[in-house]
Amino acid sequence: MKKLMACSAVALLTAAGANAQPPLPAYDLLLRGGHVIDAKNHIDAVMDVGIKDGKIAKVAKGLNAADAIKAIDVRGLYVTPGLIDLHTHNYVGTGEKNSYAGDLSVQPDGFTFRSGVTTVVDAGCSGWRNFEDFKDKIVDRAKTRILVMLNIVGKGMRSGNIQQDLTDMDGEETAKTALRYPGVIVGIKTAHFNGPEWKPVEQAVIAGTRANIPVMVDFGADRPTRPLYDLLTQKLRPGDIYTHMYSGLRHEQDPVTKGPQKGMIEGRARGIYFDAGTGGGSFKWSLAVPFIQQGFKPDSLSTDLHVDSMNSATKDLLNVASKFMAMGLSLSEVVAEMTAHPAHEIRRDDLGNLSVGSVADVAVLRLEKGKFGFTDMVNTRLDGKQKLVDELTIKDGKIVYDLNGMEALPWTAPEGDISNDKRWTSWPRPKPRPDDGVKLH
Ligand SMILES: [Zn+2]
Repeated sequence: MKKLMACSAVALLTAAGANAQPPLPAYDLLLRGGHVIDAKNHIDAVMDVGIKDGKIAKVAKGLNAADAIKAIDVRGLYVTPGLIDLHTHNYVGTGEKNSYAGDLSVQPDGFTFRSGVTTVVDAGCSGWRNFEDFKDKIVDRAKTRILVMLNIVGKGMRSGNIQQDLTDMDGEETAKTALRYPGVIVGIKTAHFNGPEWKPVEQAVIAGTRANIPVMVDFGADRPTRPLYDLLTQKLRPGDIYTHMYSGLRHEQDPVTKGPQKGMIEGRARGIYFDAGTGGGSFKWSLAVPFIQQGFKPDSLSTDLHVDSMNSATKDLLNVASKFMAMGLSLSEVVAEMTAHPAHEIRRDDLGNLSVGSVADVAVLRLEKGKFGFTDMVNTRLDGKQKLVDELTIKDGKIVYDLNGMEALPWTAPEGDISNDKRWTSWPRPKPRPDDGVKLH
């Protein structure tokens, strides 16, 4: 051991002598003076965030700009972990019409970074039969981190009778595929089922139990043979997730109190998580306002993003967060519901926080003040006075979105040393300039 250490020391000295490069600064990227909100670490204060090698290196007051390759002044803005959207649809590109394994899904990179989202969970577009095609076409190619809930239907979330086919709901086969991709397949989804049977939920729970991951339920048609009360108090396990909590389509609302029915209250008490999943037709003010007045807030905010919801009431995750702030939730609550909370629900507690050593996914948000209108599934409006806008998004330590060019130098400024820029930005460097004689297009 001693000999090995001596050899290494000689090698190091030789390397240092040959290259004679000055050591790199302590941080690749430093965000200075922003208000950091990190629910997992109980931080809600003005602090600096230092990033190195794609990881969070330090969160503290008074870090020195000279210790970073790039320092950005983010005073007046909020610095949060990169947002996690727990319910999205991303299996685009198959060419299949009227299908979430096709035309109804959205290409994630087009909609994530611009709203501070660095991780999405695809909620059941693929099943065990077509997950690998989804992985090849989208998951492995996107810049966004895509985690997946497998549909309990082997063929996935597709048109016609495919989602209703009880013979293609196999918990054992679904679990086998989930177990082959731990940490990527983070849940099981059952959705859009119209029949009277419990089989989709029961098979999903079998798969979730075998693979040790949660089940997310979109409870489909309202059927007296399978009441919501039984789902939340008996069928699901603690740690499973009920999405579309404010839709009102399955008797979520108590007709007398206007708050949540007792199954929702008992379900939460036994550890069921409740997810917003506002979507195209799954969020109503007439439920959400009294629920929240009675203290029944979401565990996680999510969009249920697809080609319809992105252009109707939901729009994007920050719009969803702004809606909940308009109903009285605090900024730190909505940030927690888009970061540490969803990470915990899918048992990926490594994400959604700014702990030292964590992957450096960061959102820098601006809270605009003014008059804003927010709509729901029946196109009624609630007015709000504030709205969150994403200014800067960082994924794996590199800037991937910059609304106002905060990281950029004025075009008249000398370029300076850009040799280490690739350590903090995803933009190509050096950038070709017109006066370099490079043809731009
Ligand atoms: Zn959905």
